[in-house]
Amino acid sequence: MVSDSFSVRPFQRADAKSALTCGDVSLEALAKKHGTPLYVYSADHILGRFRLFGKSFANQRHVVCYAVKANSALGILKLLAAEGAGFDIVSGGELERVLMADKSAAGRVVFSGVGKTAPEIDLALRSGILLFNVESEGELELLAERSSKLRKRARIALRVNPDVFAETHPYISTGLSEHKFGIAIQRARTVYKHAAAQKFIEPAGVSVHIGSQIQSAEPFGAATSRVVGLIRQLRKDGLPIQYLDAGGGLGIEYHASKPFHPEKKVEQYAAAVEKSIGQLEDITLLLEPGRFLVAQAGALLARVLYIKKNGKKTFVITDAGMNDLIRPSLYQAHHEIVPVAAPKGSRKLTADIVGPVCESGDFFARDRELPMVAPGDLVAILDAGAYGQSLASNYNTRPRPAEVLVQGKKANLIRRRETTSDLFATEML
Ligand SMILES: *Cc1c(COP(=O)(O)O)cnc(C)c1O
Repeated sequence: MVSDSFSVRPFQRADAKSALTCGDVSLEALAKKHGTPLYVYSADHILGRFRLFGKSFANQRHVVCYAVKANSALGILKLLAAEGAGFDIVSGGELERVLMADKSAAGRVVFSGVGKTAPEIDLALRSGILLFNVESEGELELLAERSSKLRKRARIALRVNPDVFAETHPYISTGLSEHKFGIAIQRARTVYKHAAAQKFIEPAGVSVHIGSQIQSAEPFGAATSRVVGLIRQLRKDGLPIQYLDAGGGLGIEYHASKPFHPEKKVEQYAAAVEKSIGQLEDITLLLEPGRFLVAQAGALLARVLYIKKNGKKTFVITDAGMNDLIRPSLYQAHHEIVPVAAPKGSRKLTADIVGPVCESGDFFARDRELPMVAPGDLVAILDAGAYGQSLASNYNTRPRPAEVLVQGKKANLIRRRETTSDLFATEML
């Protein structure tokens, strides 16, 4: 069952006859203790991935600003803050999460997003964040107004739209002019001039983010090149640009059968970005990886409820559903699904692995060949650490899963399972 490509994940079998574990911790024991569906993450794996960036970008002054939306659990933010990470946020709520996890990280926060509201901007100004990634001229106007009202200086970068195509799912591609993100790079110079004229606005950087789950380093290099060109021009215009925010989006390999070398991936990425930066001096690079740091650190554990046959089709119905992990439904995403128990034999079944939610789109895999499973068995849906719990909902009045963070031999509950009374707490009768 265990192939080499599984070593990119913390979920392993000691040998072919053992149950799947997270490091030294038994997944079956965690499921018994905390119930299912249950998210399990490896802290050591997250830190390992984070450190790859430090290693590959060792020759370039940089801050890794973890993209909070990938997985915003306070326990994970705290872990990364302690390691010196900065944070990329896209809402006031995410800023509050960062402050809750570690107040002292405020100065390492960059604020992205196309729809920032006045209260969100005010909170960020008062918290003294590092950089606002401004996405429109309207937002710049509002930021100028709020910053002079509060008499707080705002360092800004314009998020430019470089019109670079990156091969990924259309819902998570962002770097083309047809997307809602950023300001057309051709127009940026004019907007910077306008920004520089505002008393409390300090143009300090240029930012770009071309999308998510991007496999090749090449589009990152292309986007960075365009940004570097703009920075040179802006510096000639007299603006002291110090930050180049290269965004996030570095992809992982969800298929266990395909080769994936995380270390090489970051090295190639760093080489492409640094080549584009070239001789540009006195620049601090900001990097915003989300998925790459946390996706493979996490698994969603689910219990098989029923095996059901409809005509020729077999369905494995689990107690986890699309409300817990929506990626397969939303992006046709592939997730490996493996039984947790020690393999019992070579019998297999081909089935749709589905949840209890009342939607035909509620599936984790279709026509997937799996080792034989039976009701009561525990399965692990792998690579679920990013855009799993953070995209979970209460659809069908299903409380969201608990989350456990494993570090060494210890397994800490970092979020208890939601209860139906949690769900009713905001409603009136
Ligand atoms: C979502 C997002 C990221 C992180 O993307 P990943 O694919 O998870 O690395 C980084 N920056 C911005 C602006 C984003 O919107």
